[in-house]
Amino acid sequence: MIPFHYTSLRNPKGKGYNHTFLYPNTGLGSQELVNQLAQKLEIYLEHRLISLDTYDKIARVQNQQEILTIRYDRLIFTGSVANLQKTICETVPELQKVLFHSVKMFVINVALSNLADKFKSTSWLYLPDSEIPFFRIGFYNRVQPSTNGKEILYIEFSYSGNYDQSSINKEFIETYLKRIGILEKSDSVLLYDIIPIGDAYPIIKDQEFESKFELLKQSLEKQDVYLTGRYALWKWSGMLETMIDAHELATKLG
Ligand SMILES: Cc1cc2nc3c(=O)[nH]c(=O)nc-3n(C[C@H](O)[C@H](O)[C@H](O)COP(=O)(O)OP(=O)(O)OC[C@H]3O[C@@H](n4cnc5c(N)ncnc54)[C@H](O)[C@@H]3O)c2cc1C
Repeated sequence: MIPFHYTSLRNPKGKGYNHTFLYPNTGLGSQELVNQLAQKLEIYLEHRLISLDTYDKIARVQNQQEILTIRYDRLIFTGSVANLQKTICETVPELQKVLFHSVKMFVINVALSNLADKFKSTSWLYLPDSEIPFFRIGFYNRVQPSTNGKEILYIEFSYSGNYDQSSINKEFIETYLKRIGILEKSDSVLLYDIIPIGDAYPIIKDQEFESKFELLKQSLEKQDVYLTGRYALWKWSGMLETMIDAHELATKLG
C-alpha cells in the first residue's frame, strides 16, 4: 500500500451521497496516488493499443510518430472490452457471445458571464427532467475557484444511438441553462468546449451477461490477458470500485 495521510472534506450539513471525501493531504489530492504509482513504471502516453498477439505475447502500440512492439508475460487490459476483438489477433468465441450496450455522452465545459445568485453555493446539480437534455451539472469553482473569477461549469449530457454534435452550440446551451435558472436572462455563455465520450456508461441488457462474461474472462486469462477497470469489466463502477478491483487483481497475480 502507498503510505498516505488523508484529509476528510465534509459537507457541514452532511447531506447527499458522498458528502465525505478522503483525499491524500499532500496538496495534489487523488492525483498524488497516480504520481506515486507512476514513479516505478515506464509509461507511454498517447499510445493506442493497435494489435494484441496473445499467442506470441506481443502488443503493438502506436502514437502519431511511431509503432512500438512490447513483449509481455501477462497483460492487464483496462480499455473497452467491447472493442477488444478489433485488436486481438486471435478469434475469441466467448467475446462474440457477449452483447455490449452503452450510453454515450458529451461533457460540455462552459464559462459563464455570471451565475444566478441561487446557485452560488451549489456544487453539483442533478436534473431528472425529461425536458432538459443535461443530467448533471458540476460547478468547478466550488472545488477550486477559477483564477479569473469566471464561473466554470461542466455539463453532462447523455444519449444512445447517434446525436449530431453540431447541434450543441452556444444558443442551445444558453437556452437550457436559462430554463434551469443557472443563467439570468441578460447573462451568457462566454466559452464552451465539447468532449464526446463514446461508451461512457456500460449497460447490461442480456440476462445471461454475467455467466457469458465469466466464461470470457476465463478464456482470456488462459491466454494471460486479465481484465480490470470500468470498461474492461463492463460495469457501472466509480473510481473507488475501480481501484479496489485493480488492487484485487494485483493481489491475485502476486
Ligand atoms: C461522465 C462520467 C462521470 C463520472 N463521474 C464519476 C464520479 O463523480 N465519481 C466516480 O467515482 N466515478 C465517476 N465516473 C467513473 C470513473 O470515471 C471510472 O470509474 C474510472 O475512470 C474508471 O477507471 P478505469 O481506469 O477503469 O478507466 P479509464 O479512467 O477510462 O481509463 C482507461 C484508460 O485506458 C485508455 N485506453 C482505452 N483504450 C485504449 C487503447 N486501445 N489503447 C490505449 N489506451 C487505451 C483510455 O484512454 C484511458 O486512459 C464517471 C465516469 C464518467 C464517464
